[in-house]
Order: sequence, then C-alpha cells, then structure tokens
Amino acid sequence: MSNKGIPFHKPFINENEINEVVDTLKSGWLTSGPKVKLFEQKFESLYPIGFNALAVSSATAGLHLALESYGIKRDDEVIIPTHTFTATAEVIEYMGAKPIFSDIEKDTLCLSTKKIEPLITKKTKLIMPVHFGGLPCDNDKIYELASKYSLNVIEDAAHAFPAKYKGKLLGSNDNGIKVFSFYANKTITTGEGGMIVVKDKNLSNRMSIMRTHGIDRDVYGRYTSIKKSSFYQVVAAGFKYNMQDLSACLGIHQLDKAFIMNEKRARIAAIYDDNFSDLPVILPSKACGNSTHAWHLYVLRLEENLSIYRDEVVDYLTEAKIGTSLHYIPLHRHKYWQEKYNLDSHEFPNSDMAYLSSISLPIYCQMSNEDIEYICSKVKEAINKICFK
Ligand SMILES: *Cc1c(COP(=O)(O)O)cnc(C)c1O
Repeated sequence: MSNKGIPFHKPFINENEINEVVDTLKSGWLTSGPKVKLFEQKFESLYPIGFNALAVSSATAGLHLALESYGIKRDDEVIIPTHTFTATAEVIEYMGAKPIFSDIEKDTLCLSTKKIEPLITKKTKLIMPVHFGGLPCDNDKIYELASKYSLNVIEDAAHAFPAKYKGKLLGSNDNGIKVFSFYANKTITTGEGGMIVVKDKNLSNRMSIMRTHGIDRDVYGRYTSIKKSSFYQVVAAGFKYNMQDLSACLGIHQLDKAFIMNEKRARIAAIYDDNFSDLPVILPSKACGNSTHAWHLYVLRLEENLSIYRDEVVDYLTEAKIGTSLHYIPLHRHKYWQEKYNLDSHEFPNSDMAYLSSISLPIYCQMSNEDIEYICSKVKEAINKICFK
C-alpha cells in the first residue's frame, strides 16, 4: 500500500495497451477504424456464431440505441430497478418514454419477476434488468415473463462482463439486447466506451446505422471500400455514438485479460467473505449453479439494525486511507426522479435498506495481498469498534 492509501479502483493498464495506443497515434487514423473492427471481432468470437458486437462511445449510448432499435416511443413504459445508476433511467426519457421503477430482491439486489409482474400495464413495452455488481439476474425467468406479455428485454450489463449465466457467457441467449460498459472503473475499460451484443440482424443493422449519424455504412467501410468509395446515404437522424480507435486500443488488450482479472476479483471476494463471515453483516449474494459473478462490485451490508453506523464505518475506513463507494443512492432518492414520478422510499423497502446499509469495498486485480489483508483487518476493526461500542 502506498502512503496515498488504497484507492477504490485502479484500472489494470500495461505496456500492451500503451503500445497499441502509440501505434494508432502513429498510424494517422484515430477514430473508428481497424482497431474498433478488431475489438468487435474479438468480442464476437466469445459468442455463438451469428452474434453481433457493436462498439459504442459508452454504455449509455448503447442503451439509448437499443431502445431506439426496439421503437420505444412517447408514453411507452419501461420497467427498471430503482437500485441502479441514473443512466439506466435517463435513456428512457431520451425516447420520450416513461421509466417505471421497481424494487429489487433483498438478497441479490437484482430485479425479479415477482417484483416486475405487478408493474406491467398495457403501456409496458420493455424490461431493463441490471446485473447488479456483476451478479447475473435470473434471466430465464425474466425472458419467460417478457415473452408472456410480449415485452422486449434490454439487459443493462454495465457491471457484468465477463459473468456467466448457466455456464454461458452473459449475453449468449438469442433474445434481447445486452449492453456492457467499459467506463474507467468497470471490469474492463476503454476509458469511455461500451459494447452492444445482439443476435437479431435487423436490430444490429439499425443500431449500427444509428450510432453514426444514421449513415448506412460505417466510417471505415465508407473510406476503404473500392466500389462507390465515397457514396453514402443518411437514412435517419442518427446519433454520434461510435467508439474511436484510441479507445478500442485499450479494449483489445483488456479483453485478453478479462477472465484473469475476473478470477483475481473472485479470489478477493472469497477472502473478504472468509474474513467478514463472523461480523454482523450481509455478504454479497453468490452466483449459483454454473453461473459466475463478474465481481465488478463487492457490496458489504451492515445488518439492518446497525445501518445507522454505516457512515461512521465509512469514515473510519476513509481515515485508514481505504477508498470506498456507495452503490447506489437509488433513483427514488434523487431529486429529479423522485419529484417527477412522485417516488417514495416506502415503495422500495429492499433498495432503500440496501442503500442505507451498504459499503462498496475495493475489488480490482491491482490490489496486493497486503492491500487485501489491510482492508480485511480495518473493516473488522471498524465494525467491532463502532457497532459494539
Ligand atoms: C456505468 C453504468 C452505466 C453507464 O455506463 P457508461 O459506459 O458510463 O455510459 C449504465 N448502467 C449502469 C448500471 C452502470 O453502472
């Protein structure tokens, strides 16, 4: 541990990413080009044949494109968990549609069909589950419910690369659209960026066109195809959501390390679990069967009656130079969403209690064994001193 302490997150960047960026800088082609193509191809190769991977400027952009491709329009309703980042909700308003906020399951902190079904109305068009912290939601049940009511599904998988659901890489199911985030603190990073994974060719084509101004061929194709080399058509008022090569340079090498980094995070989670199992806390839910957790977050929760001490515990850790975070201040507690949709904490008891009692601890592969031990000892010390004083 440096004398600056242990930050909440640090990306794992080495010479490979740096050399790739230098290569691109020297090549003279900075925006969407060969590196984005390669990144997409590498991503696609992780999925069954026929799947499409579309690199975008952020997961937020990807979620917006996904909603657009499903034709979401004014007054449509889209069900989301309240326990998420504001991006999940804001993209729905981009389409003039209405987010419908759902409480989460107490143990997994994910949406469940039990929570979703009572919220379905004639206006409901789509469900947007969030794989909270990297733990896969119960997708089979969610897709079954969606099909029962003829709803589409967009998975906000911002936290969840490379989790597995029932033995397969999350996103490998035929239906729906999945969106991963490569924001600076996510499980793999391109600084800013995201990836859409979709099987349906029509949806993929629409999103591909809409991510570059509604132009009917991607930027690279436009300048390198021999036939009609400078001909293109604008077919819709699209967006500027393409990923640039400079970002893809990171993605190409982050992808190579994704599973190793995931293993390291899983090891850290197991050490945390071991150390904290005797404390008055709720440990994060595990992935069951042959599903796996992406371990983007390790969210430790104080037992309900001790949640009043949460801020003190956080202060203690901050004092010990351990970076922590809070996932999340739920949407129903943010001024804009609360006021616009008249949301009240009592409607979301599980999310609200999770918010009040949660502490997100550092979990990333740059942490040393000493860092992990230090955090374990300080967390135990904090909780024992503060909650039993
Ligand atoms: C980070 C995040 C996003 C947005 O990702 P960006 O790539 O930053 O746009 C969306 N949803 C959730 C749950 C996130 O955590």
